[in-house]
Amino acid sequence: MERIPPYLHRAEGELWLTEDERDNLKMTYRIKTVLFEEQSAFQHVMVLDSYDFGPMLVLDGVVQTTSKDGYIYNEMIAHVPLALHPAPRKVLIIGGGDCGVACEAVKYAEITRIDMVEIDETVVRASRLHLPEVSGRLSDPRVRYCYEDGVAFAARAKGEYDVIIVDSSDPIGPAEQLFELPFYHSLHEALRKDGLMVCQSQSPIFHSEIMLKTYRRVGSLFPHIRLYTAVVPTYPGGLWSFTLGAKQELPDPDEIRFDKQAGYANEAVLRRCFALPEFLSELLEGA
Ligand code: SAM
Repeated sequence: MERIPPYLHRAEGELWLTEDERDNLKMTYRIKTVLFEEQSAFQHVMVLDSYDFGPMLVLDGVVQTTSKDGYIYNEMIAHVPLALHPAPRKVLIIGGGDCGVACEAVKYAEITRIDMVEIDETVVRASRLHLPEVSGRLSDPRVRYCYEDGVAFAARAKGEYDVIIVDSSDPIGPAEQLFELPFYHSLHEALRKDGLMVCQSQSPIFHSEIMLKTYRRVGSLFPHIRLYTAVVPTYPGGLWSFTLGAKQELPDPDEIRFDKQAGYANEAVLRRCFALPEFLSELLEGA
């Protein structure tokens, strides 16, 4: 009898993945084949080849990134902070096991070191093997892989980093602590005096409580805070938020310069991503 991996089912002969994270709204993807499946010590890891989005990374049944739209998220979480910092040299990525954010960071010649702290080596292995469109099969000597809990790593780092990018999964399982105040406090301590951090802060429409909590927590530690958005088709609601906290005053978005090769980010998008829809501005005013 055929063994069907968790989170997948067959209907009329076709294989489908149904994301299982929400009670009232479920996203279902038609799948061609299972390229990778392993239960790691932290989570269930799959790479599935899907009809509409190509190969996709799925952790505990939730789509993390896909060959078709992964670049949008990875570019926007990487290039906004890197373009805002006057001279980023040392960068810390927490999570980011699909290597997509590191692939964007290596585009900056002035960066001399990128520490990527991913709790689960299986995610990196699976992405390098089966998701080259996202992972780029990265082999840049400036990237140092560290397989460890980002919470513990950040707690030890002191005044070292110019930019910290938190590319975490949703706030459940191993990523839960990555949305808590003590972790943001560690990030504040880990940054140099002109450093800045960014984290993905979920959907403004479906997870507005998490987004607001993140905004308040980051804002309670960093004197300068901004929220920006991008549209990522595979994330619930499409519209996705990012929260940026800085120790020193940030330049006006109109001063952002950007000359990297990218598919979504360009100078105009990086300058205007801080322009928020009315409902979102109102939400933040009450935060
Ligand atoms: N872009 C995706 C999204 O927003 O859904 C997330 C990308 S996925 C690569 C996030 C990564 O964070 C996963 O590989 C997961 O293993 C890692 N992660 C979760 N908790 C972590 C922790 N405490 N420390 C380090 N990495 C963690």
